[in-house]
Formats: sequence, structure tokens, C-alpha cells
Amino acid sequence: MSETGNSPPERPDERRLHNRHGLRHQDPEARSGAPVTTRAVYRYVPHTITHVPEGGVVFEAFCTADACCEGSGPQDEQEAAQDWALHHAGRTGHDLFRRVVTDHARVTRAD
Ligand SMILES: [Zn+2]
Repeated sequence: MSETGNSPPERPDERRLHNRHGLRHQDPEARSGAPVTTRAVYRYVPHTITHVPEGGVVFEAFCTADACCEGSGPQDEQEAAQDWALHHAGRTGHDLFRRVVTDHARVTRAD
């Protein structure tokens, strides 16, 4: 008992959590008792989605360092976002960036 004195207190808590989840999933009244108030019928209509070049592409870089919320802002050119990241890294030492590229797409009904 004294050898494993650190681990036993954690195990009962884990079991309790598992039991709570199990009771929720195994409760048959909760599932069957829920009334169905709405019903929607969807007709299948084929659509296509296509990249729209004239909508533009936006490049942006975000610094991921803790407590640093700086970003390049939306840029029309990828180089601009990358240059911002390079300058930011040189100035702060922050070296990990989340890069986002956004394009536009149009959905059209295929009649
Ligand atoms: Zn930063």
C-alpha cells in the first residue's frame, strides 16, 4: 500500500468519470423519451464548388508564441506575410507561425 501511495487516489476518480459517462450512454429513457418535433425532407440536388480567382487569395501569418497576438494582417502576396514573419522572428525571437491562405469558392447548382 505504501509503495503505490501516489497512484491509488487517482484510480478511483478515473473510474467514477467512466461510470458517469457510461450511465449517460446506457440510459434508454433519455433516448426513446425524446419527442421528435420537426422532420425535414431534403431533395438531392447536385451542386458543384469551384475556386473563383477574381475573389482573390489572402495570405496571413500569425505568431503562435505564448501571449503574443501579433500577425501580419491580410496580405495579397505570400511574400509579404512571410517577410512579416521573418522580421517578427528577428525582432522577438518567436519562431513558430500559423499560416493561413484563404481563397474564394462559388457553389453553383448543376442543372
Ligand atoms: Zn510573436
